[in-house]
Amino acid sequence: MRSKYFEENTEEERVLIFQDYFDRDLESFFSSRILCCGKCHDEFNARWPGTVSHDVELQYGYMTIDDFLRNSRVQDDFYPEEIERFSKSLTCPNCGSVLDGEFWIYEHPFDVPPEFSDALDEIAGLASRAPFLLLTHALAREVLDVIVALGVAALPQSVVGTQFRARKAANLPSPALTDFGAPPAHLVAEGRYNHAGHGMIYLAAAEKTAFAEIATPGDRFHVAEISLNTSLKILDLQPKPEAETPAEILIQCLARSSLCSAPRTGEGWVRREYVFTRFVADCAIYAGFDAISYGSTKHPSGANLVLLSPADDVATFASLIGVRTLP
Ligand SMILES: [Zn+2]
Repeated sequence: MRSKYFEENTEEERVLIFQDYFDRDLESFFSSRILCCGKCHDEFNARWPGTVSHDVELQYGYMTIDDFLRNSRVQDDFYPEEIERFSKSLTCPNCGSVLDGEFWIYEHPFDVPPEFSDALDEIAGLASRAPFLLLTHALAREVLDVIVALGVAALPQSVVGTQFRARKAANLPSPALTDFGAPPAHLVAEGRYNHAGHGMIYLAAAEKTAFAEIATPGDRFHVAEISLNTSLKILDLQPKPEAETPAEILIQCLARSSLCSAPRTGEGWVRREYVFTRFVADCAIYAGFDAISYGSTKHPSGANLVLLSPADDVATFASLIGVRTLP
């Protein structure tokens, strides 16, 4: 096959040269690398749901191989038939599949500890086999240590802005503030941060997030706008654009990975996706935190706040601004 600049090279060398040019263009346009392709994106999503739903850098990093090559400088250095041929030997660095469709350019804004990937699988296994023994895993112990240290340093703060909380409208004709407190213990199934029987108050920073978190097709919901009149020690598990210290990196790994950001997978009693979040809530309560702030799994830019041990009488710490009924 004719070649613009590489007539002297063997076929094998041309494959490697093409790969080098491709990598060079990726680097120069994005200063990042290929994270995953269309064939392994689901697996990445399962491990890092918080990054997939909250990090716009990942969403901006989406492209197809055809679009990339069309706009790349390889067009200057290779004939179309060379591009056609050698692009077939480009592979996804994550799963090794031929890079012939879509892919994502992205790097986590911090170095994910190499042992974290194994720990994700080990913790998931332990959470389903023997959840009370999570502390036998080194990562779980590190999470406890980091949260205890954060608890020592945290100061009570007032919650900026109003919060929203949704409830099914059926059987609640005239909703009042008391209807938006913690539910009575006998009605509480296990949730993202609460054990069964332990009533917490789940709030969202925006009405649409509160609605998205709870909405089921065909049902109407009251969404209350609530002002919190108290100072809280808040454990911040929101995805952030940077993390530098080992503690910050660990918190971002929690916030972005399936450990704390797994979407709810089904109805019923078995909610293994919530085992580690309930462990984190126990750590937070033990460390003196009143609340956890975390990213919504239902609404990409949504922020949630869960009050870990709210007083029985909601009027002692909150006031009602108003209620809207949706849809
Ligand atoms: Zn792949």
